[in-house]
Amino acid sequence: MQIDILTLFPKLCEGALAESMMKRAQEKGLATLRVHNIRDWATGKHLTADDAPYGGGQGMVMKCEPIFAAVEALRTPESKVLLMTPAGRPFQQSLAASYAAERHLILLCGHYEGIDQRVIDHLVDDEISIGDYVLTNGAIAAVVVTDAIVRLIPGVLGDESSAAEDSFSDGLLEYPQFTRPVEFRGWRVPDVLLSGNHGEIAKWRRQKALEKTRHFRPDLLG
Ligand code: SAM
Repeated sequence: MQIDILTLFPKLCEGALAESMMKRAQEKGLATLRVHNIRDWATGKHLTADDAPYGGGQGMVMKCEPIFAAVEALRTPESKVLLMTPAGRPFQQSLAASYAAERHLILLCGHYEGIDQRVIDHLVDDEISIGDYVLTNGAIAAVVVTDAIVRLIPGVLGDESSAAEDSFSDGLLEYPQFTRPVEFRGWRVPDVLLSGNHGEIAKWRRQKALEKTRHFRPDLLG
């Protein structure tokens, strides 16, 4: 799979995509992650990528021309163009899993007040929000979306089962985890986890996952 991120702030993405699992995915040849500066497709003396909104109002709006030129230079018949926007579809694990099966994604990042609607109407396949809050620009959102998708590509995670047991995969938040030492500052690891009884451990984990989900995300329980 290949992901191309289009942003006015490539440096915000580059560090994050060169570490940990994203680095490993690329080294294993399972993902190609590229970051481009939209301004490289801007023209004119000042390489302008934004302008004042028609109808008046605060701030600036990203212009059509450099974005169309960038996407048209990068896309193939297999590409899907996803716009990062707080006004989009909530990004969830199920959406990450379905995009992990695509061959080429182009993630388009806004800045300022957003992007000319004609880009959305004629270039974008999906509009993705990473949560109900407003970031300064889409670069960090694109990194979040990339990470969540790439770690679900088969072979990226060392232990395939770890994604299957993550929060959301079975509709619940994940159960609590413990590691050595057995006792730290008087706080002991629950005895059941030391028992070696896999049936009891599974039961305990399910119970804790349910309690946690009920507490933080009752909406997931329907
Ligand atoms: N005026 C826009 C609105 O109210 O919907 C917000 C623009 S925001 C300051 C600038 C850019 O940050 C957006 O174009 C988008 O690319 C990105 N962004 C901000 N919050 C986001 C979120 N929750 N999810 C995805 N992208 C976001």
